[in-house]
Amino acid sequence: MATIFSKIIAGEIPCHKVYEDERVLAFLDISPLSPGHTLVIPKEPAPYLEELSEDSAAALGRALPKIARAVIAATGCKAYNVLQNNRAEAHQAVFHVHFHIIPKPNEDEGLEIGWSPGRLDDAAAKGLLAKIRAAL
Ligand code: AMP
Repeated sequence: MATIFSKIIAGEIPCHKVYEDERVLAFLDISPLSPGHTLVIPKEPAPYLEELSEDSAAALGRALPKIARAVIAATGCKAYNVLQNNRAEAHQAVFHVHFHIIPKPNEDEGLEIGWSPGRLDDAAAKGLLAKIRAAL
């Protein structure tokens, strides 16, 4: 299904382009949480991370630190979050894989995180490990 990001990749919708290579495009988020908030996307139209090809995943892995360094240099902000949402329940709004690079210049700007940690139960961990390893 075509998304707004497919249209940006195709050049049908403009963007503030930060970076482009054969497999990756990065551009400024239209509703930034802080100055420099950048989206890094594969050109492959996969909706969720687990559906991405290895080639696109490798290209994203190469591009992300490079773009993060450039955002740090441009904003002067060394603190930042990388966020990647999958599915609406996890706050995904555009169903094309994307990584947010979000500078955190101060308490008021950037990503705010609600984090309510539990406690890892040993028996539950062993059960989960067996299932996850079997699925790899
Ligand atoms: P997510 O909730 O992870 O799916 O985030 C989608 C992001 O895409 C949001 O931060 C939007 O502000 C951003 N966005 C949506 N449309 C555009 C656009 N045309 N150009 C740049 N960013 C966009």
